[in-house]
Amino acid sequence: MSKILDGKKLNTEISLDLERKIKKLKVKPRLAIIQIGSVAESTVYIKRKIAFGEKIGAKVEHIKLPSKTKKSELSSIISKLNSDKSVHGIIVQLPLPKHINPNEILNSIDEKKRVDGGKYFLPATTLGILTLLERYKINISGKKVVVIGRSELVGKPTALAMINRGATVTVCHSQTKDLKKETKQADILVVAVGKARLITKNHVSRNQVVIDVGINATADGKLVGDVDFKNVSKIVRVITPVPGGVGPMTVASLFENLLEAYYLQL
Ligand code: NAD
Repeated sequence: MSKILDGKKLNTEISLDLERKIKKLKVKPRLAIIQIGSVAESTVYIKRKIAFGEKIGAKVEHIKLPSKTKKSELSSIISKLNSDKSVHGIIVQLPLPKHINPNEILNSIDEKKRVDGGKYFLPATTLGILTLLERYKINISGKKVVVIGRSELVGKPTALAMINRGATVTVCHSQTKDLKKETKQADILVVAVGKARLITKNHVSRNQVVIDVGINATADGKLVGDVDFKNVSKIVRVITPVPGGVGPMTVASLFENLLEAYYLQL
């Protein structure tokens, strides 16, 4: 059985640290979360962010807009939040309705308030993965890292962050010819696809570290990752569970970024 990286436990540790720091601040850090439409998963993720924010003493404002909201209306809300000095962080919960281009919208957020990526901050999921590896003393430098998934929010920034930390990185995606051949060679395998149990025991080898970013709902309402945890965990050295791995790290990392954004705007 592999060693399990406990994202839930680390989430609690980070929350206590943030709570201690925020207690000392007169003006509390404030995060605005914009949700357009009512994708059920987004609502669940936002609830978790609000709960974590409340726990650490930050302020979280949930701005809910109908799915038919025009791009111009959304832009004007972002522009108001950009110039509002009481707001330190802004996130737009993805996915957006098809008529709104996510890149254009994300790029319109003031960089100092863009706490889920951009010029100053790593996206929360990428930071969460790096923190998880760091706290469990798993080195990245010199390692062969394989990232599956090339999305703007998860796959690409995670691959880039791994390169910047000295890894040799391969990025696989839907057009990769021989996925098993690539994944088997990894020291650290990061899976961010969104397909339940895509990675089976035939994709992995001994001594690997497997980071499962995927969150998928099964027909019976359970949450599972992209990795067949039951069988893969019998082979690899280290693995993250779903739930309880990268998910709670993403939430904690978002608020670490928020506090950094707060300091940046002092
Ligand atoms: P996305 O749909 O934007 O990207 C998926 C990527 O997977 C694409 O690059 C695609 O090329 C690749 N892909 C699709 N089928 C493939 C296949 N058969 N083989 C190899 N690659 C394939 O998704 P995303 O936003 O990057 O999210 C990925 C997953 O991570 C989802 O399940 C999402 O819910 C989850 N997620 C989790 C967290 C967290 O905190 N744990 C945060 C963000 C996203």
